[in-house]
Amino acid sequence: MATTMQGAFFLGPNEMALRDVPVPVPGPGEVLLRVGACAVCGTDLRILSGGKTRGVVPPRVLGHEIAATVVAHGDGAEAIPGVPVGTRVTLPPGITCGACRFCVIGLENHCTRREAFGYKYDGGFAEYMLVPAHAARRRILFRVPDTLPDAEASLAEPLACVVNGQRKSQVTVGDVVLVAGAGPIGLMHVQMSRLAGARAVIVSEPSAARREQALSMGATEAIDPTAHDVGDAIRARSGGYGADVAIAAIGVPGLVMDLLRWVRPGGRVNLFAGYAGAGEATISANLIHYGELIVTGTSACTSEDFRVALGLLSEGRIDASALVSHRFPLAAVHEAFDVTRRGAGLRVVVTP
Ligand SMILES: [Zn+2]
Ligand SMILES: [Zn+2]
Repeated sequence: MATTMQGAFFLGPNEMALRDVPVPVPGPGEVLLRVGACAVCGTDLRILSGGKTRGVVPPRVLGHEIAATVVAHGDGAEAIPGVPVGTRVTLPPGITCGACRFCVIGLENHCTRREAFGYKYDGGFAEYMLVPAHAARRRILFRVPDTLPDAEASLAEPLACVVNGQRKSQVTVGDVVLVAGAGPIGLMHVQMSRLAGARAVIVSEPSAARREQALSMGATEAIDPTAHDVGDAIRARSGGYGADVAIAAIGVPGLVMDLLRWVRPGGRVNLFAGYAGAGEATISANLIHYGELIVTGTSACTSEDFRVALGLLSEGRIDASALVSHRFPLAAVHEAFDVTRRGAGLRVVVTP
């Protein structure tokens, strides 16, 4: 095995550089992974731009949407069941304590001692990465079946967040669902809503290319909100009643009021995407009050969401191949970030 490797290190706001460093040697209980694929997430862009560097102390390898192969065990780690050397794995980015109140009540994504790869620990934009002993002990490595390529397995994390959002939205058989935004996350919501039994999935998306993709992934209708009234389309599809569920898959504060207007009384609105800055939006509280609306948010995922997402990918129930639009070698990691920033593709995957 090589003794040196390349990694893309975040060095400070807007500064990331490829460096040659020694391949980490796994200490007691640690697991060494050879990274096969790491997808670029909006969070990586926010950390690099300096907008969200909380807890990220440079130099740090970013990247938390990872598929990899187990290549070495530190003393004792070989006893962890299910992950012998040679096993292909993926992992949820969060390492949770399992003991705080939120972990105990099933909200481990809010664990008060949560740590994460690409934040506190080096992530996936490198040839190799270490899984700390306490994380390996908590069985965060999930085996990937041979039929699922690394690039697609690396999408388990964003899909797990979508699973979380779908649970909150309670999409069920016969629903009319509105998905605002048809980026990779919106397209996952489209596919998941269809799987959950929605009879209509209406997508609102200004980009013609993305509207096409939404239709090919199961949307029943894709509307350009700059040219047509989305509310009219929803009413036409729902007998005038409004959507059962509306999901914001793009962080535009002005859209929140629209979603509240577009759902029926008792309808569910999920604010899935994050908002820049304080995320302030103007809404009519009466729409929630008189409409008896259920408004939820979604942030990250639990390991159970992750297990469900990986299962859906493994069984081919969610088409991840169409969501991977670009692949770059590690040497082109900056280009991978640029393509993601421009929104020029869907998920952009780096293959170290
Ligand atoms: Zn992510
Ligand atoms: Zn906890």
